[in-house]
Amino acid sequence: MAVLKKVDVVTVGAGWTAGILAWKLTAAGLDVVSIEQGPARWATPDFEHNHDTLRYMIRKAMMVNLSKETWTWRPNPRLPSLPIRQYGSFHPGQGIGGAGIHWAAQTWRFYPTDYQYRTHHIERYGEEKLPEGNRIRDWPLMYAELEPYYTQMEYDIGITGNAGNVNGEILTGGNPFEGVRSKPYPLPPLVASIPARMFTEACAALGHHPFRQPAAILSEAYQGLALQPRSGCLYCGFCTRYGCEVDAKASANNIHMPVAMSTGRYAIRTNSKVLRVNTGPDGLATGVTYLDQLTGEEHFQPADIVILSAYTLENVRLLLVSRDSAHPDGIGNSRGMVGKNYTYQLDKSVVTGVFAGRRFNLYMGNSCLQDVIHDFNADNFDHSELDFIGGASIACGGGERQPLTSTLSLPVMNTATSGSNGDEDDSGNQGQRKRPPVATEVSSLAGTGSEWGQAWKENLRQNWDSYVPISIQGESLPYEDQFLDLDPTYKDVYGLPLLRVTFDFHPNDYKLYRFIAARCREIMTQMGPTRMTATPELEPYNSYTYQSTHCTGGAIMGSDPSNSVTNKYGQVWDTPNVFVTGAALYPQNPGMNPTGHLLAHSYMMGDGILDKYLRDPNRIIG
Ligand SMILES: Cc1cc2nc3c(=O)[nH]c(=O)nc-3n(C[C@H](O)[C@H](O)[C@H](O)COP(=O)(O)OP(=O)(O)OC[C@H]3O[C@@H](n4cnc5c(N)ncnc54)[C@H](O)[C@@H]3O)c2cc1C
Ligand code: SF4
Repeated sequence: MAVLKKVDVVTVGAGWTAGILAWKLTAAGLDVVSIEQGPARWATPDFEHNHDTLRYMIRKAMMVNLSKETWTWRPNPRLPSLPIRQYGSFHPGQGIGGAGIHWAAQTWRFYPTDYQYRTHHIERYGEEKLPEGNRIRDWPLMYAELEPYYTQMEYDIGITGNAGNVNGEILTGGNPFEGVRSKPYPLPPLVASIPARMFTEACAALGHHPFRQPAAILSEAYQGLALQPRSGCLYCGFCTRYGCEVDAKASANNIHMPVAMSTGRYAIRTNSKVLRVNTGPDGLATGVTYLDQLTGEEHFQPADIVILSAYTLENVRLLLVSRDSAHPDGIGNSRGMVGKNYTYQLDKSVVTGVFAGRRFNLYMGNSCLQDVIHDFNADNFDHSELDFIGGASIACGGGERQPLTSTLSLPVMNTATSGSNGDEDDSGNQGQRKRPPVATEVSSLAGTGSEWGQAWKENLRQNWDSYVPISIQGESLPYEDQFLDLDPTYKDVYGLPLLRVTFDFHPNDYKLYRFIAARCREIMTQMGPTRMTATPELEPYNSYTYQSTHCTGGAIMGSDPSNSVTNKYGQVWDTPNVFVTGAALYPQNPGMNPTGHLLAHSYMMGDGILDKYLRDPNRIIG
């Protein structure tokens, strides 16, 4: 095995969080190398003319190759697990930029109460209100501590939207429930789609507070931290699961990484799969071992600091497979905390309306063309008389309806209440769903009952751009019987155990969903469709339907080693020169897409390493 020259910092993966940390740390004079399992790719030439739906949406060109490695799933600890052989529930990415290339770019700040979830709920409702078997925790940091990082991140990458609360002043057109922000968004929102405007009118009539989706997609040319101005969005319609050909969609590729590279202190080694974190006799990390997938050779990359920035699932797996005498159960796992608090966004399309004769042009734009309400999210509404805690954001109007995917995978609705599942981009991509051979929402919504043949084609022709769903992003809470661990049976192509996901929805999810679905139905009724179908009840979780790539927890941050894997900087309690980034750190999952927080937190982690850790290396920082 070749031993390479030692660097200050090695990151596992070269995705969103790795790019931010590489920028932060190289700017301060550290040498950083990222070991990335996927290929190199940049807007030019890789994303030029890349509107190939078959390649990107159906065959998942940007995702991990499931014939080499995958995950296993079981709904609860009493059942056996099986490998996920085809893409379904979630779509982790690979290649420079990670899932930050093909994400949908809906970008949020969490609520102040999200960070104090346990304390807040007990103070307002009493401990008995928390669901049975829960592992709900407070975060070890407050919104106010993170606020400057949220603001810097928003200005560096160019977030678009209408602010709702600037320095305590509630502003029209924004989210009135949001935490106090020190500055408005740097850029105005993207244009609203036609159904988004209909949704907003309906919500306003019902007394709710609609606002535009905040997005990491430029509404106009903007530079921010990038080396040169990036173009505004072209509304091309091939956005989620594609790279942006004009760099309007923010990713580490078009902002932080080029700046890091311009220092001469940052390198990315592609097609290189990290197999384990190595540790020395003192239990500290010494570097990582990786396989060059082009030559088949193993290399050891020594480093003073190891940053696990390989996305939630792989971060947890690498902690668990990296074992030695100092870490017999894996790094960070001296108290058996690795894998706990796994959660998964309650992400569904709840009600769909057909507006016969209307044309919505939903083939354009991206998912961020939607409008949203948070009246029933977080604890923005009184739960005293309700049988659940938590909430969901409710949204309508995202674009990206591509012919191939909308024909293949529009939700099945053979009866008025049959299931349909959401997608961040409302573009389907739900290839492994149980359904009759040819069946679309359009056919049944059109009222013919036909799911094939001439009648189906006619209905598709008439209605494919005349229907719109209302979808939700709901909170997901942690439970004792919901976790990640190593599968005892199945291994990947490298001989390492697969990560086993044990997850299903719990009673609080079913009750929350029922309540939110009723609100969605009221809004759609107010929008005045010709027909609508709804899914009033949540169905059990399955691994074959895409819902979201919002997997969180498994290496949670906390106030001390007895309740967590890392401190608030993502520093691993039992191995202080290892840091974990991203959503693996979340104790539970709020009711909105997760990435805004983890981008801001990567800024905070960078400052923690520079301002605190480096002053007294190999010790836990306070
Ligand atoms: C289709 C889709 C849509 C999304 N839309 C949204 C959205 O609208 N809003 C939102 O908030 N979030 C969204 N997300 C989630 C968002 O993309 C992630 O939260 C974010 O990218 C996480 O950043 P990360 O750095 O943790 O991981 P990533 O950006 O995924 O980077 C991880 C990198 O590590 C590499 N890697 C993994 N294992 C290894 C290994 N063993 N060796 C070497 N390299 C490795 C991977 O190849 C990858 O490049 C979406 C995700 C997907 C897939
Ligand atoms: S819709 Fe806009 S942000 Fe998305 S890929 Fe097209 S140009 Fe880029």
